Amino acid sequence: VIEQGQPEHSVVTTCAYCGVGCSFKAEMKGNTVVRMVPFKDGHANHGHSCVKGRFAFGYATHPDRLTAPMIRNHIDEPWREVSWEEAIQFAAERIKAIQAKYGKDSVGGITSSRCTNEEAYLVQKLVRTAFGNNNTDTCARVCHSPTGYGLKQTLGESAGTQTFDSVMKADCIVVIGANPTDAHPVFGSQLRRRLRQGAKLIVADPRYIDLMKTPHGGEALHLSLRPGTNVALINALAHVIITEGLEDRMFIAMRCDSGEYAAWNAFIREERHSPEATEAITGVPADKVREAARMYAEAGNGAIYYGLGVTEHSQGSTMVMGIANLALATGNIGREGVGVNPLRGQNNVQGSCDMGSFPHELPGYQHVSQDGPRKAFEDAWGVTIDNEPGLRIPNMFDAAIDGSFKGLYVQGEDIAQSDPNTQHVEQALGSLECLIVQDLFLNETAKYAHVLLPGSSFLEKDGTFTNAERRINRVRKVMPPLAGKEDWQITQDLANALGYRMDYNHPEEIMNEIASLTPSFHSVTYQKLDELGSIQWPCNEEHPNGSPIMHEVDFPIGKGKFVLTDYVPTTERTNRRFPLLLTTGRILSQYNVGAQTRRTDNQHWHGQDWLELHPHDAEERGINDGDWVGLTSRAGNTVLQAKISTRMQPGVVYTTFHHPVSGANVITTDNSDWATNCPEYKVTAVQCEKVAQP
Ligand code: SF4
Repeated sequence: VIEQGQPEHSVVTTCAYCGVGCSFKAEMKGNTVVRMVPFKDGHANHGHSCVKGRFAFGYATHPDRLTAPMIRNHIDEPWREVSWEEAIQFAAERIKAIQAKYGKDSVGGITSSRCTNEEAYLVQKLVRTAFGNNNTDTCARVCHSPTGYGLKQTLGESAGTQTFDSVMKADCIVVIGANPTDAHPVFGSQLRRRLRQGAKLIVADPRYIDLMKTPHGGEALHLSLRPGTNVALINALAHVIITEGLEDRMFIAMRCDSGEYAAWNAFIREERHSPEATEAITGVPADKVREAARMYAEAGNGAIYYGLGVTEHSQGSTMVMGIANLALATGNIGREGVGVNPLRGQNNVQGSCDMGSFPHELPGYQHVSQDGPRKAFEDAWGVTIDNEPGLRIPNMFDAAIDGSFKGLYVQGEDIAQSDPNTQHVEQALGSLECLIVQDLFLNETAKYAHVLLPGSSFLEKDGTFTNAERRINRVRKVMPPLAGKEDWQITQDLANALGYRMDYNHPEEIMNEIASLTPSFHSVTYQKLDELGSIQWPCNEEHPNGSPIMHEVDFPIGKGKFVLTDYVPTTERTNRRFPLLLTTGRILSQYNVGAQTRRTDNQHWHGQDWLELHPHDAEERGINDGDWVGLTSRAGNTVLQAKISTRMQPGVVYTTFHHPVSGANVITTDNSDWATNCPEYKVTAVQCEKVAQP
């Protein structure tokens, strides 16, 4: 698939894997990629890359790619290849018939954080115009929706505060629930460089991660907490800072809401939040918590980086706010080397959220109930928009099972494999009268589909991705779309077939519309992106070339807000039947459910998912390295091979989720974050036992 030889030309574009957003030169021979060369002028990667971006692009021309639209009347029938026109017409007629029978709210659309900003914008526009409701969501629902909620409440903007390069000024780096050297490798290397220069490191994670191994002069602390106890730990850290007088009083007085601070100060001083009182909950020794709190508060510049180990909990949003409390209390906001930094999993998590892919928010995080912004969109789009939020993804599943939700358009997400409690998801998908799947491959979700629309890979389209540091990077087409259409064209065709006119000629026109309606994008243009190389939003009249550091002078909500973050234990408890806690994560060579990386040579580097368990738990069960083990939870069961490892603490087991055969989400429950419904992937009570090789 990947032809070797001398390239004839090259095109600078952006990696479509993780939220680092590395720039690459795609070196081309005709329409074939010869190699992907990390771009030295890339603002997120400065010429660095990892094994995914550099080598795992062959999926774009893999024989499994869908190349023609297909339809079928019923999911038991074989697929029938048809023309684009027939497939779009078939999909539109079904949607219309469903809405005529069950009402306009009986259908919805889901976009993906793999898609470009322009594609995500069009999907929510299609739902709000042609479908006529707010039933639009994104797969960010299942990863960083608590970040959007938590940071908006506390700092006033649903985004990380820093550039990646800012870490080179950090004196103490706190990594919570993230494994950057595997999941965000280029930024992981940058972290390592800073640690080698002597920055201190605190890692809060149930599992020992490789970043801890970095040889560096400074101190390193591992807070190996019990899964599900993040909030108790963050409160304990804050308790030490406040009771030992380590807070930044000047920052708090100048930049924070005084009434809310006073209430929080009284709350966090309570003895129940002390490291000694919370030790039995978190499992982290009190003296380690005290040491960590002092390290962060006294460092000069303290920077917090966090991942899905923070958000994918029943208290995900609470924990995000707890992290923001900590940064506000110590004045670690608004300059280089500090900040609150979510490490976004997918390439365009930030962007898909920015683009209004939520049932309650229009592009730019403007709530549908706000009359002014809603009217601006109504005037621009020529429709009336509901002022009530629509359905979130889990609500769509529940409504499908109840029989009130009948039609779904899914762009670029394999929800049957990615979302928790697979049995529940499959029941919901099987209840739909029209499921339209737009994807590169015949994925697990497609088994329940009536219409298959072949999507285009990042190499086949123009547009933009926005990385974890709010950096808008250009995606440039290096080859024509395999099936003849870019994803935005498919969405546009569907809108037109449904009777809502869209007539864009190029994604640039979509971006111009986004900029005109989204205050934080007002001054973004493709021309400026080409001239500057990339832009970090907000980019508007006030910041015409973008904003590397946020909240330097004030917050979008005026003052920083402290929130009372009470620890509430998850309902997912261990007992005699399920005595272990399962948590999950990623590995360097693979990506998410593996739809792309498994179709490249990276597959050979990690051919299966493993179950890591502590020697103590293995011995108790008579399990040896390499044995097959049955893993059972309240939701389901699966079989994995055992890897005995002291990375785990006793009582906690761990697996990756890159291979459908092991199906980690068969095990996960449908518990979710109280504020956003982000699934609690990171805590599942399980039992495991040795079984025969399947
Ligand atoms: Fe792609 Fe992320 Fe690797 Fe960069 S670090 S090459 S964005 S997968």
